[in-house]
Amino acid sequence: MFRSLRTALFAAFISVIVIGFLVLALLATPLIKSATVNQISAELLKQVALVGQDITDLVMQKVSDTKLQNKVLKVARLTNSRVTIISADGIVLADSGTPFDQVKNLENHGNRPEVVEARDKGQGRSSRFSNTLNKELIYVAVPLKNSGNNIIGYLRFSVNETYAAGIVLKIQKAAVVALVIAVLVALILSMFFSRSFSLPIIRLSQAAKMIAQGQFPITILHHSRFEVGILEQSVEEMSKKLAKSFQKLSNERTQISTIVSSMAEGVLAVDINNKIILANPVIEKIFSVVVPEILTKNVREVIRNNEISDLLVDVLQAGHLVNRELKIILPVERIFLAQASPILTHDGKIQGAVCVLYDVTNLRKLEQYRSEFVANVSHELKTPLTSISGYIETLLDGAVDDKDNTIKFIKKIEKHTRNLTTLINDILEVSHLESKQELGPFQEVDITGLVNRAVESVAGAAKAKDIKIVKCCASEPCLMMGIEEHIYRAVLNLLDNAVNYTSAGGRVEISCARKDNGFEIAVADSGIGIPQEHLDRIFERFYRVDTARSKELGGTGLGLSIVKHVMNIHNGTVIVESHVGQGSKFTLFFPA
Ligand code: ADP
Repeated sequence: MFRSLRTALFAAFISVIVIGFLVLALLATPLIKSATVNQISAELLKQVALVGQDITDLVMQKVSDTKLQNKVLKVARLTNSRVTIISADGIVLADSGTPFDQVKNLENHGNRPEVVEARDKGQGRSSRFSNTLNKELIYVAVPLKNSGNNIIGYLRFSVNETYAAGIVLKIQKAAVVALVIAVLVALILSMFFSRSFSLPIIRLSQAAKMIAQGQFPITILHHSRFEVGILEQSVEEMSKKLAKSFQKLSNERTQISTIVSSMAEGVLAVDINNKIILANPVIEKIFSVVVPEILTKNVREVIRNNEISDLLVDVLQAGHLVNRELKIILPVERIFLAQASPILTHDGKIQGAVCVLYDVTNLRKLEQYRSEFVANVSHELKTPLTSISGYIETLLDGAVDDKDNTIKFIKKIEKHTRNLTTLINDILEVSHLESKQELGPFQEVDITGLVNRAVESVAGAAKAKDIKIVKCCASEPCLMMGIEEHIYRAVLNLLDNAVNYTSAGGRVEISCARKDNGFEIAVADSGIGIPQEHLDRIFERFYRVDTARSKELGGTGLGLSIVKHVMNIHNGTVIVESHVGQGSKFTLFFPA
């Protein structure tokens, strides 16, 4: 209703003043008027008393009406009143307010209230409308008595009531002036009070605005007087407490967001309507999305994987933890274990759900790799064991009596047993390298010495096939950091293969050289070579280009797999170049 405190205060003051004045006017005006009338009546009575005896004498003397009329006109002039002489039976004998020739026409005044009262009580007064003069008049009357105390007539004085009304009017005028002064004072007071009340309120509203905008003023408030001061103090305290709580909340939020952002798992949270409220950078990567863009959007709309959306819907409906494995095809195929649980309010109502995605791709690959490994190993072991048991059965069935065959069979059994031992050793080595446990510390390795030993190790087999081994390494020690026994094994496997897969009279060359950013060992041969389509797979476990030939040569199919693992341990690489019928070259590179 009122837009400002000043207007409201002013209106309140004015209302109080006006109501006060109205009440005063209503109550005081009749009182003042009656007091004035009383005062005038008393004055008139004094005048009546002064001329009463004269008039009594004249009436008693029964002077002519003209004399009486002249007397009343004279008295009326002197007293500035209307003077009337009335006979004992109410006939007007003389009246200063009526022309002489009309006095006898005046009606009987015996019943006039002031005359009745004067008759009964010795004096009478009245304030009423005069039909004779057609105006409000104040009357006083006294009886005129003879010596025998008998009433011989009445003397009546009257004045115009406008005199009393004039006094009331004067008082009313004074009251209006007082009212105007009071209104001005009210205006000044309301301005003063509104200022002293509204300033703290303005300050408070500014403070409240700042609080609403997230700024928390601590010292902008001044403490005023009255209750507003207490309010200001409370707002200031509230502001300080809010600032602290907000700081605490913001710290906690930062902590949570830092934790969630630095998690290796994908974290996705939704509200009760399956709309995203939180997602960490891992989710961005998995689903190729941008977090700020997907916030507040429905999971189904922005994440192109219905399984995750279904999972979250299921959790929101079920209200308990749900685990599910999800396969994500794009951008690359990955397997995730999704663990989703409901977000509950303190009174147990579901208000959303959070899903954590664990990347189990490697774990699943490892599991698959293990089961394949077990299957391969069983298969590899089965063949020599079947042969061995076959030879033993043949011997037991009587062949043992044939000395030549017995020796032949036992030699075969011995060969298979040797192969079996080699196979088992290789399997053990592969699993040892794969487990990456207790591989030993990196130490200085003299590559020249290591190459010399490996060449010596295959020298016999090479000589048997008339294969020439050429070394292109510096004669002085050539040092490199690594695990000697594994590097040796890798070089030996390469030399072994080179000799095995090179025909008689061929050539094997081993070179070692320091490069800018590491060390290189290369084994090249002039052997049978490897067809192009096999080059990608020869480092897989048990992979052979020609299984029969490999087995004949005592190969296990694990030699190059061991080489690959050794290079992985050293953060190095192995590269193969090969041309069928021309030879192969394996290059090991160890970074510095
Ligand atoms: P293996 O015990 O059969 O030699 P490897 O893992 O050492 O197993 O080698 C895998 C396969 O790669 C071999 O079976 C062979 O077919 C091929 N291979 C390896 N080295 C050579 C080479 N120097 N020349 C031709 N083929 C090779």
